[in-house]
Amino acid sequence: MSDNDMQTVESNVYYDEDADGEAIAQKTVAVLGYGSQGHAHAQNLSDSGVDVVVGLREDSSSWEVAESDGLDVATPAEAAAEADIVSVLLPDTVQASVYEDAIKPNLEAGDTLQFAHGFNIHYNQIQPPEDVDVTMIAPKSPGHIVRRNYENDQGTPGLLAVYQNATGEAQDEALAYAAAIGCTRAGVVETTFQEETETDLFGEQAVLCGGIASLIKQGYETLVEAGYSPEMAYFECMNEMKLIVDLMYEGGLGAMWDSVSHTAEYGGLTRGDEIIDDQVRANMEEVLEGVQNGTFAREWISENQAGRPSYTQLHNAEKNHEIEAVGEELRGLFAWEDEEEESEESAEV
Ligand code: NAD
Ligand code: MG
Ligand code: MG
Ligand code: MG
Ligand code: MG
Repeated sequence: MSDNDMQTVESNVYYDEDADGEAIAQKTVAVLGYGSQGHAHAQNLSDSGVDVVVGLREDSSSWEVAESDGLDVATPAEAAAEADIVSVLLPDTVQASVYEDAIKPNLEAGDTLQFAHGFNIHYNQIQPPEDVDVTMIAPKSPGHIVRRNYENDQGTPGLLAVYQNATGEAQDEALAYAAAIGCTRAGVVETTFQEETETDLFGEQAVLCGGIASLIKQGYETLVEAGYSPEMAYFECMNEMKLIVDLMYEGGLGAMWDSVSHTAEYGGLTRGDEIIDDQVRANMEEVLEGVQNGTFAREWISENQAGRPSYTQLHNAEKNHEIEAVGEELRGLFAWEDEEEESEESAEV
């Protein structure tokens, strides 16, 4: 895509004072799923005074958990029937089938379908009737952070998008939902289902999950194949990654360059673009094209329909990469500063 194809627009950002709780106060929200996002949205909404019913399969182990968190639980179909707002916080890969079986038959004119990611709407896996609102509030954090921030009177930044505004009130209601889960305390950026979906997929494929994991593995293998010890390769290519990324998170690239040695800065500035070169840039553009034209979405949907043969093979191969065994051993030898925080996090999820 050339630079001219997409206009750069200043995004609207909304805060608490932009949201009116009345837009959701009289409504019932069905939160479908009680995983990462579901447990956080359901509890935050409920603590904000919104009427919540959690929708779960009858055999779900989360049923008791949600009840012991003080929430009403029903099947997805019952919850959808009861609700004015159906918040679809299921894995993206099951949303379309749950929509057909449990949600669609229970949607009434004026109801809202609410998402935390745009995949199924943007790629037409869910095609809602014209008389319902379709919105997205997507916190930019895993659910346990959304919940923890809310409990600590802090906010979690989020995205807002309106795909369909049948009632004329979709935006107000979405903002009230964002406020009730704590997102407007930090700020909610307006986007579209298309932009959220495409940038999310590109980011996780090219840079965050895919790009960074491959960069680490290639660096590790380069050192080990040249005869250096796996432990040294692990420290240089994997362990230090977090320290560098933390600096970027806190203060941008500048904070990172400022805090490494001048030797590291000069070496990085001269050699970085030799590694991530024009060919890598062309590869990124190809990955983006596959996201934009739906090739990736079609591939992933049929992979799921086929029972995930490639996914399973790749998932297992990654687990068996030598760097994982080396890392496990090394991590066992050292005391990590944030060990307590980490175990607290996983316990909450
Ligand atoms: P998750 O896998 O953590 O939880 C999914 C929940 O759905 C679980 O409670 C599971 O038991 C339940 N479930 C699974 N299959 C079901 C079925 N057939 N019927 C009923 N319930 C079923 O999912 P998540 O990570 O919270 O993702 C939910 C949505 O939020 C997705 O659209 C995802 O893209 C989006 N999102 C996730 C994050 C994140 O950090 N996890 C961040 C932003 C947006
Ligand atoms: Mg209803
Ligand atoms: Mg993302
Ligand atoms: Mg994603
Ligand atoms: Mg070094």
